[in-house]
Amino acid sequence: MTVSEIKEICERYGIVAQKRWGQNFLADMHSIDRIIDTSEIGADDFILEIGPGVGSLTESLSQRARFVLCIEIDPVLSQYLTERFSGNRQIEVIHQDFLAVSSETLIRRYGYPDIIISNLPYNLTTPIILTLLGDYPNTRKMVYTVEEDACDRIFSIPSTKSYGPISIVSSIFGEKKKHFSIPANHFYPAPHTVSAVITFSKHMNETILSPLFVSFVRGAMTMRRKTIVNALQSVPLLIGQSERIRDVIDAEGISESARAESLTPGQFVHLYRALFPDI
Ligand code: SAM
Repeated sequence: MTVSEIKEICERYGIVAQKRWGQNFLADMHSIDRIIDTSEIGADDFILEIGPGVGSLTESLSQRARFVLCIEIDPVLSQYLTERFSGNRQIEVIHQDFLAVSSETLIRRYGYPDIIISNLPYNLTTPIILTLLGDYPNTRKMVYTVEEDACDRIFSIPSTKSYGPISIVSSIFGEKKKHFSIPANHFYPAPHTVSAVITFSKHMNETILSPLFVSFVRGAMTMRRKTIVNALQSVPLLIGQSERIRDVIDAEGISESARAESLTPGQFVHLYRALFPDI
């Protein structure tokens, strides 16, 4: 889709790009083709697309995949997409806030997504990616278009300022890669910064990721500059268990004075396994 095509759709259907939903629509065919190629879609793949917008990627996705399920929060866009794709049995659009969708219900109804794709709303990049990593840890590949600033958080390493839950959880999911940048003027309306297309490819081993693991990491990193013993005591399931936490930390060979923000993703996995052996 080009800028003039998107403008025409917006005028015809009364669509006004909403800032609160991070609506910047991709309007450059070359970037769309590159995202599709980067996704390495197979003919039998089921794709989950979060926030399809005016459908810049959706139709091209459906030409490569078995089925594309789109979740869009905006009622006007959902209505537009439902009408536009009404004759296409490979695309279904759900009008809902993705963060309020039950992954269990979705998997029961549609099966497990092979690939997740999203050009993410800027203000929800971290919550949406963390939810997807916890809820769909066996997805083969995740392909995200994010504002370049978000890459700092995603690709950062322990003991740096931007290291946080998303750096840790995405590393545990699999291999991370930044593929290419998309200039702001390739979107309509143009956002304030350059975007980047990144992928997470799942490690082959069995995964520990789950919603509980994600909330464990989030809880521990809320107090990132405290010692790991104090930080873990604020995790809801561990409140009042300081002695047990100390024992586990000693057994893992981690210093009791280490700060939460200095722990590697692997150390978070070891601590979680030791603290929640039955889960
Ligand atoms: N995928 C389209 C594209 O590439 O042009 C649109 C991308 S735009 C940056 C983000 C999209 O996510 C918008 O369509 C917006 O309405 C949608 N969105 C924002 N928050 C959402 C949420 N919580 N659940 C589902 N969709 C959401």
